[in-house]
Amino acid sequence: MKIKFLGTAAAEGFPALFCSCEVCEKARKEGGKNIRTRSQSLINDDLLIDFSADTYLHMLNYGLDLRKVKSLLITHGHDDHLYPFDLVYRASPVYAQFPNSGKDKKTLEIYLAHRSDSFLRKAFYTKGNKMKDKTVLSLHYIKKFKSFSTSGYTVTPLKADHAMQFDPVFYIISKDGKNILYGHDTGYFPKKTWEYIEKIKIRFDLVTLDCTCAITSDAYSYHMGLNACRDVKNRLLKNGNADENTIFCLNHFSHNCGYTYDELCPIAEKDGFCVSYDGLEIEF
Ligand SMILES: [Zn+2]
Ligand SMILES: [Zn+2]
Ligand SMILES: [Zn+2]
Repeated sequence: MKIKFLGTAAAEGFPALFCSCEVCEKARKEGGKNIRTRSQSLINDDLLIDFSADTYLHMLNYGLDLRKVKSLLITHGHDDHLYPFDLVYRASPVYAQFPNSGKDKKTLEIYLAHRSDSFLRKAFYTKGNKMKDKTVLSLHYIKKFKSFSTSGYTVTPLKADHAMQFDPVFYIISKDGKNILYGHDTGYFPKKTWEYIEKIKIRFDLVTLDCTCAITSDAYSYHMGLNACRDVKNRLLKNGNADENTIFCLNHFSHNCGYTYDELCPIAEKDGFCVSYDGLEIEF
């Protein structure tokens, strides 16, 4: 399995769009891995997680072929994870042509919680397309802790501690005997999620955690900081859901976390965490 971190910032980007704080200025000046775009990851070539406003930029920057993506998992309806207006451009022949007179049309299977779909529906309505063509986009409403299969992956949505109006989830993604825990956006995992993970006795090969606040705030709720991520890591290790070969990554950073990539790396490494950056690819 392969994961590529396409975007690793929180909603406002890093540097943030209009911000003059010391961290944003430093990120602008240093550039490179200190620049982070909005949240999105790609598993292999065909499973996309979240659809931020930076999806088009990711396509250009990484030379992605989005036509190969068969499934799209949405964690929740915040606009840094679901920017629906760009999805409309797949649903009309005015914007997206398929070869062989449309015979090669492949449905993009989109998975999300019912309460996360309001912006998506609004976007399609605004653009005058009511998503009637199911051969192009197909919506599936997920249920927490109910696994489903898509494009050869087994996916399980877990309950997140985040913006409850969206019924937010994060995901276990499994294929070919490998398991990823994709933990964004969430605070320290809710009790039901821990019970589920502990009950199924899964071992994760790669765990990526919400570290929005890094070390400037001791966040455990809604988002996490380094302390909460360390507690999640230790609990997974203690329960046998992870071991010394499990790769632990930190992701989804806000400029308010106080540290650029270069500054955070030596701190996070002491706890055995890899700090993600835009374009990081890990094969395992
Ligand atoms: Zn977010
Ligand atoms: Zn800033
Ligand atoms: Zn969010």
